[in-house]
Amino acid sequence: MSEPAPKARRGLHFDEIRALLAYVHPWRGRFALALTALTVSMIFGLMFPLLVGYLVDAAVPSIAPAPGGWSPNVNTVALLLVGTLAIQAVLTFFYSYAFNFVGENAVARLRRRLYETLIGLPMKFFGEHRVGELTSRLSSDLSLMGDTLCGTIPQALRQTIMLLGGVVAITATSPRLSLVMVSTFPVLLIVAVFVGRKVRRVSREAQDRLAESATIVEETLQGIANVKSFANEAYEARRYGAGVDAYLQTVLSSARRRAGLVAFIILGIFGSIILVLWYGATLMKAGQLTHGQLTRFTLYTLFVGGAVSSFAEVFSQLQRTLGANERVHELLQETGELPSGTTAPAAKTGLRLRGAVAFENVVFSYPSRMDLPVLRGLSLVAEPGQRIALVGPSGAGKSTLVSLLLRFYTPDSGRIRLDGEDVQLLDLATLRANMAIVPQEVMLFGGSIRENIAYGRVDASEAEIRAAAERAHCSEFIARFPEGYDTLVGERGVKLSGGQRQRLAIARALLINPAVLVLDEATSALDAESEAIINANLMRIAQDRTIICISHRLSMLVPADAIMVLERGKVYDIGRHEELLHRCDIYKHLWQTQNRHTETRTPPPAPLALARSSGA
Ligand code: ATP
Repeated sequence: MSEPAPKARRGLHFDEIRALLAYVHPWRGRFALALTALTVSMIFGLMFPLLVGYLVDAAVPSIAPAPGGWSPNVNTVALLLVGTLAIQAVLTFFYSYAFNFVGENAVARLRRRLYETLIGLPMKFFGEHRVGELTSRLSSDLSLMGDTLCGTIPQALRQTIMLLGGVVAITATSPRLSLVMVSTFPVLLIVAVFVGRKVRRVSREAQDRLAESATIVEETLQGIANVKSFANEAYEARRYGAGVDAYLQTVLSSARRRAGLVAFIILGIFGSIILVLWYGATLMKAGQLTHGQLTRFTLYTLFVGGAVSSFAEVFSQLQRTLGANERVHELLQETGELPSGTTAPAAKTGLRLRGAVAFENVVFSYPSRMDLPVLRGLSLVAEPGQRIALVGPSGAGKSTLVSLLLRFYTPDSGRIRLDGEDVQLLDLATLRANMAIVPQEVMLFGGSIRENIAYGRVDASEAEIRAAAERAHCSEFIARFPEGYDTLVGERGVKLSGGQRQRLAIARALLINPAVLVLDEATSALDAESEAIINANLMRIAQDRTIICISHRLSMLVPADAIMVLERGKVYDIGRHEELLHRCDIYKHLWQTQNRHTETRTPPPAPLALARSSGA
């Protein structure tokens, strides 16, 4: 993915944390309850060293006065300890579950939103990004954000309460001792912030590396037959290995920084504990401190030290999450084709167009290759009900023309009209609901045959699905499967032959009842007989729609109402077969070359395509 270079960020930005917390907004009541339960639970937790101090003093009577003048017996203190623990256990259960509930729900909602955004983005976006990286992003970045919402944020709060409570408790008993301990913190915090910031940068890099290797897996497994046929297993393994190595280097560099940080913090905590113990022992010897007070001090120091050390972890986890959030946010900010919230099935808009198509001096280059004009002032007209054939050498721009008609891209200049309306101004859902394309590379989904046909119109009845299958000459091969319409087609339709996939795609397109039907090499994988039958069927439904047919098998296009010869992004000539054969050198050349080839192989299929039904 052509990622922008990681932005130089300094420290944690509160508006970023606020943006992260905004995801929990719909569950704010539960979130607030969880926060309250956590705070109360921590207050009980802070009573633990205090009570243990009383317990020790109750067991070892001291020369120093008892703190607060209260001298409970051992059993009373033990009971109080059990009581606080029980309350803490109940509260911990409640807030743990509540944080997870809110966090997981927020991430699930975000996953849905991100997917909706992603699927609504224009084709231009998918030309610039790789699918493997996007899927990796969707899963790993969001998992990271989930972990933070469910775990890190509560942890940060817990440790803050521990830190503040501990420092207050220590200061209340012996300001001198607390001064000794607290003096070590600034160093620890500065190191934690400094290293944490570096971790964020490295972690974003690591996630990017991981996404890159995920792309290799995705692409090679999708094209596994190609990998094998070129015997490129070792090459791909090396390529993936290099990707994984790059990831490994990045995470190890991050791990080194973290390991250094942890070592430093352990040194800091134990150093401050030793200091406190030494100073405390000196005070106790002088009779200024009880056994219980020293125990209490040590425990509070452990609490406070633990809190400071985990800040480093919390901080670096937050940094990683903010890195992930940045990317997710970037994706969410991408502008979709449809206004948000209009992902409803297009057919629901209900406006039926007639199918008059006009290209007026259209100039276009793909956004990823702006320097290479693909269409260079192309103009053509197709009346409703006309059968138009597009022919021309490979790369002339035939498929591009169709992409523009479907508004996958916007022309650089010129205009495309449908029923006289500029397609840029037409409601996109209406536009696409009135079009169907049967591409050369058919994309089936892993469900059943029925679901795949109904993809054209998800609310179609069983009878409509079967009628479409009949017209696309599918019913015969479907009947041969034991499960009929319930047969699962396998991932991307791998369990079907190329011709069967094409026929399903035609059935899917016919089900829409489109105003403009585009067949882009749609019958290229079929044998001559199946092609002739499908074409005859197409003729029956062709009365009230425009058909645009792209095919390299010119014999199929002979009876078209108009054959448009495209050459290097322009219409070179328009006419009927005989006219073009007389006057158009490109057409004549294509025709002769093809017939020479066909004569040496199978006889040409019956020229039914695009024939008027009366003449067919
Ligand atoms: P064929 O008969 O081989 O299918 P075609 O006439 O349909 O060819 P197009 O697919 O429209 O040709 O391609 C026209 C030109 O646009 C080609 O030079 C091709 O390299 C370029 N092109 C096609 N798709 C893209 C894309 N997504 N990004 C950049 N360039 C593209």
